[in-house]
Amino acid sequence: MRLSRYFLPTLRENPAEAQIVSHRLMLRAGLVRQSAAGIYSWLPLGLKVLRNIEKIVREEQNRAGAIELLMPTIQSADLWRESGRYEAYGKEMLRITDRHEREMLFGPTNEELITAIFRDNVKSYRDLPRNLYHIQWKFRDEVRPRFGVMRGREFLMKDAYSFDLDKEGARKAYEKMFVAYLRTYARMGLKAIPMAADTGPIGGDMSHEFIILAETGESAVFCHKDLVDYDILGTKVDFEASLTPIIERWTGLYAATDEKHDAARFAAEVPAEKQISARGIEVGHIFYFGTKYSKPMGAVVAGPNGESIELEMGSYGIGVSRLMGAIIEASHDEGGIVWPESVAPFKVGLINLKAGDATVDAAAAKLYAALEAAGVETLYDDTDERAGAKFATMDLIGLPWQVHVGPRGLAKGVVEVKNRKTGERAEVALDDVVARFT
Ligand code: ATP
Ligand code: MG
Ligand code: MG
Ligand code: MG
Repeated sequence: MRLSRYFLPTLRENPAEAQIVSHRLMLRAGLVRQSAAGIYSWLPLGLKVLRNIEKIVREEQNRAGAIELLMPTIQSADLWRESGRYEAYGKEMLRITDRHEREMLFGPTNEELITAIFRDNVKSYRDLPRNLYHIQWKFRDEVRPRFGVMRGREFLMKDAYSFDLDKEGARKAYEKMFVAYLRTYARMGLKAIPMAADTGPIGGDMSHEFIILAETGESAVFCHKDLVDYDILGTKVDFEASLTPIIERWTGLYAATDEKHDAARFAAEVPAEKQISARGIEVGHIFYFGTKYSKPMGAVVAGPNGESIELEMGSYGIGVSRLMGAIIEASHDEGGIVWPESVAPFKVGLINLKAGDATVDAAAAKLYAALEAAGVETLYDDTDERAGAKFATMDLIGLPWQVHVGPRGLAKGVVEVKNRKTGERAEVALDDVVARFT
């Protein structure tokens, strides 16, 4: 993409309304613009990152055996009356009336709808287990939308729903999602710690929130320090085999959110120097809830002897749009965003340091074409801004690599390659540039 033809409205100054760094940088780097309180438009650069986050989420859901579908944003109120949640949900639910006076709502989550779809289409135990998910916009009329996309009213969520014949099956489904979540966050360069979370009236140990430690987080959390250094990507995962050993390793050390925190246990189980008591961002939440929806909604299947079995269910959410804020909170510096390569909107930012100079223009254009031809996504700054401003913009938008093309280097047949994260710079011969990124 040539910057001269792109749509990238960046801001020099810090917007006054943004209280935390990720919100400031998302506005300054031209990723989003607020349309109404807690409702955002995704500008081209932000949309590319959102799609990259989505892609990782999707790949890991598929790898764990979940199946993608797509449910609508608008749902019927009657469905929610079946589960009893229409009245219970309260003001966070955006209620809508259509032209025929039918009561509708903008879905804040999808347990009812997926249970109805499953109930109406699956009749036999032979068709279980299944896990269905979608990546769809949700609306929650948050009292205090804030911190940009971190707590929006309209936000993108991946939500999966598992259907099993018994509790043992539900546990397996839960463990698959647990491990899929660890992999998902790790691939985005995040250290998300699974923490025991409140299960509500169902009880048991099958609810975890995935938490990124950050001062600006809205939850108070407590955990063992060693969890921060646990790494899942080095572990070979077979989703067909038992995942219990992995789960036991991750749940073997103390980690709990505020509601589940037990100060006495924390003190007894975790040595003082290993105690982390911090703030965190909830980027995901997995939950086993048994027959909470299948029972009132009549979601049953016929068992091997014709008996009727109420479905055991769980739900599994990832805050896809919130993740963009969380990634920036975890990865930025004075100059701006530092995208992990896996979610970066472009891999390379190519800077023409002297636009208008025939030699530099030709060399930069040739390099740009070669990078694109090699499949290296490149944002080419071909504008006539001065070099200093170009460097600042490139640092702000945080592409992992920069290539600086100027007359001094070209005289020696080289360009400068800069690593955004480490700041390291290297002179690279023109002919070797593409190979560095493929
Ligand atoms: P929170 O405690 O932050 O209000 P929640 O517990 O109400 O979140 P869940 O119902 O567990 O949220 O939804 C699954 C995921 O969706 C959350 O873990 C979070 O990452 C994301 N999410 C929830 N509410 C919002 C929101 N208002 N804006 C952006 N993402 C959200
Ligand atoms: Mg909430
Ligand atoms: Mg929560
Ligand atoms: Mg939650």
